[in-house]
Amino acid sequence: VTPCGTLPGEFELIARYFAPLSKGFEGAYGLLDDAAVVAPGAGCEIVVKTDAVIAGVHFLPDDPAGQVAQKALRVNLSDLAAKGAVPLCYMLDLMLPPATTEDWVAAFAQGLARDQRTFGVHLIGGDTNATPGPLTIAVMALGQVERGRILRRDGARAGDVIFVTGTVGDAVLGLAALDGALPEIDGATAAPLIERYRLPLPRVSIGPRLIGLATASIDISDGLAADLGHICEVSKLAAVVEGPRVPLSSPARRAVGTDRSRLEAVLTGGDDYEILFTAQAEASGSVEALARETGIAITPIGHMRAGPADGVDRVVMLDAAGEPIRPARRGWTHF
Ligand code: ADP
Ligand code: MG
Repeated sequence: VTPCGTLPGEFELIARYFAPLSKGFEGAYGLLDDAAVVAPGAGCEIVVKTDAVIAGVHFLPDDPAGQVAQKALRVNLSDLAAKGAVPLCYMLDLMLPPATTEDWVAAFAQGLARDQRTFGVHLIGGDTNATPGPLTIAVMALGQVERGRILRRDGARAGDVIFVTGTVGDAVLGLAALDGALPEIDGATAAPLIERYRLPLPRVSIGPRLIGLATASIDISDGLAADLGHICEVSKLAAVVEGPRVPLSSPARRAVGTDRSRLEAVLTGGDDYEILFTAQAEASGSVEALARETGIAITPIGHMRAGPADGVDRVVMLDAAGEPIRPARRGWTHF
C-alpha cells in the first residue's frame, strides 16, 4: 500500500504492467476484482505450488529483471511438470523495496509475457507491497491433472528403474563458472552452463506424459542425490545410482573430465529442474518412445531397492569401478 519512491501507485502499476498479462483468462476478471476463479477441465483437478525467490538468496540484485521473472515462474512450472500437471495460470506476490524503478517492473513484466507465450499460462492475480527488506517475488502456479492421477513421490517400488530427463549438473557448474571456480574452461564452453543456472528449462512437455508411466516423480531443485533421497524417504526404499550413467552435457563432461572431484558437485548440486522419476522396467520402451517424440533425452541411471528406510545411505552412488562415492554435502538446504 505504501508507494515506492520512484514507482507509480500500486493500482497504476497493476493496470499498466500486470492486467495485460491476464488477458485471455476469463476468471482473472482483468485483475479488477478481489479474487480469481479457476475451473478445472472435465474430470480434472487443480494442482497448486508456490515458490518464492529473494534478491541476494536466489538471484543477484542486478540480474536482468526479465530473467528474474522467468526464473520465478519457471521454478513453479517445474514442480507442476514433475506432478504430471498441465500448467494453467499463476499468481504473483511482489514485495518491492523503495529503490525499485518503473523500468525494472516493465522489464520484469516483459519476461513474464515471454514465458506466458512459451508455456501457455496467464497471470490471474496477486499482491503488490512495499518492503523494507530485499526484493521478493512469490509465484503460485496452478495446473491440472486428471482426477487422482497426480504423480507423487511415494509410489516407487523395489526394482523400479530410476530415470532422469535432460542433463544433470549444468546449473551447479554454471554457478561455479560465475564464481571463477572453473578457471581452465573457456568462455564459450561455460556460457551454456551459466545459461542453465540463470534460466531453468521446466520439462512441461514431458511431465503430463509421464502419467501411467512413472511410479514416483520429483523435480531436481536441491540436487540429484537429495531429491532422489526424498523419493526414497516417502517410498520407504533405497536407491542405487550408477554415476557414469548420469547424463552430462558436453560442456559439463569437459568440466568433469579435467577435474573428477567436480562429479560430486554434479551429483549433489541443485537448480537442474529436470524430472527425476521411477518406472517399472517394463515401461522402458514407452519411456524411450517419449524421449524420441519430445526430443528430450530420458536416461536410466539406476534402480530402487529395499534398504534402509532412513539414514544417509538411502541413496548409494557408484563410480565407474562400482565403488560408492561419498559426497561431503548431499544437497542444498537453507538452514
Ligand atoms: P485487495 O485490496 O482486494 O487485496 P489488491 O488491491 O491487492 O486487492 O489487488 C487488486 C487486484 O490486482 C486483484 O485482482 C489482485 O489479484 C491484483 N494484483 C495485485 N497485485 C498483483 C500482482 N503483483 N500481480 C498480479 N495481480 C496483482
Ligand atoms: Mg479486496
